[in-house]
Amino acid sequence: MNNKKKESLNLAIMTRDFNSVDLSDPREAALAVKRKALELGADAVGIGNIERWADAPIQLDPKQIMPECKSIIGMVFRVDRGSLRGVEEGTYFSNYSAMGYGGLTYVYMPMTVINLTKFIEDQGYEAIPMGHQSDWRAVTIKGDTYEKYSRPVRPGQATPDVMVHLRIAAFLCGLGEIGFSKMFLSPQFGPRCRVGIVLTDVELEPDPIYDGPQLCNRCMACVRACPGQAFSTEKTVKVKLGGREVEWSDIDVLKCNDAFRGIVHSGVPQSEPYLNTPGNEDSVPGDWSPFYQRPYPVYKTGQAICGSRGCTRACMISLESRGVLQNTFKQKFRRRPVWSVDWSKEPEYAPGTKFKNQDKDGVD
Ligand code: SF4
Ligand code: SF4
Repeated sequence: MNNKKKESLNLAIMTRDFNSVDLSDPREAALAVKRKALELGADAVGIGNIERWADAPIQLDPKQIMPECKSIIGMVFRVDRGSLRGVEEGTYFSNYSAMGYGGLTYVYMPMTVINLTKFIEDQGYEAIPMGHQSDWRAVTIKGDTYEKYSRPVRPGQATPDVMVHLRIAAFLCGLGEIGFSKMFLSPQFGPRCRVGIVLTDVELEPDPIYDGPQLCNRCMACVRACPGQAFSTEKTVKVKLGGREVEWSDIDVLKCNDAFRGIVHSGVPQSEPYLNTPGNEDSVPGDWSPFYQRPYPVYKTGQAICGSRGCTRACMISLESRGVLQNTFKQKFRRRPVWSVDWSKEPEYAPGTKFKNQDKDGVD
């Protein structure tokens, strides 16, 4: 090759390889997609065929988003156990909200699912990346449709935005169980995970519904440790998913919504409420929050002051002690008694604590 020709090759633009992986065989295609998902950062991956969503309510139906959808790829992303350490010790709360919550939801999962959809679309099939984003959904956290929010664009269609229920998707992709707490439990990490999915028109061989070692044994550790008493033990929800009956506590989402941010309603208007928003004028910090005012959310949604004390930490401790999780650790998670803030007493600061403006020569 002469030098001029070499030079022109070097200067040519470079691009991805299109149509280089044959996804026409469902079994081979499923293997290729799952390997790619792990390579891109998912911690576990499973596949459900669209027939498993046959009974999905219209506002949660993936076929409303992609009528030609044949497969859903579910991915588990672990919440690092270490990201719960600071809240467990009571010294570093933002790490869970950032790295275990908002950062996973808004940065890490989107990167992985977008890159997986690029791999699928490179082969000529359409794929929708869904990290955790359902911010424009037309359904409330209770599952009701908002009135006067949006309207169907064609008669008979769902009203935008449809939301695919991610925990149920993980179950239907064979990735684990839904526990009594309604948290998705994976055999690798228990409740310590978040879920991302990809909808695609490629036909992929589905994985069976999870049938491994029982994860939730109704130990009720989640119920006892939830600071908001959000779980009912009497009222439960029973649904049929993938031919299995699944039951979870009828969680009071409004109680959780308050407690997870550290709110207690005192019933008395406060001059400086814990959360200064309408309806929260009487709010004070609970004994599971060390903050005088609720800190602002990190990555938009991360404000989990309770550090999922019941639904994640207590459940994880229970599952780890039963030896049913694959991600095992050299040391147990809980190493000191559970702390609680006594707001009726003055704080006792540690020696060496130095306040802002205490020393005029100091640096902030
Ligand atoms: S804490 Fe116990 S009852 Fe609650 S979800 Fe976990 S295993 Fe199930
Ligand atoms: S996030 Fe906190 S308040 Fe909500 S259910 Fe879990 S432990 Fe209870």
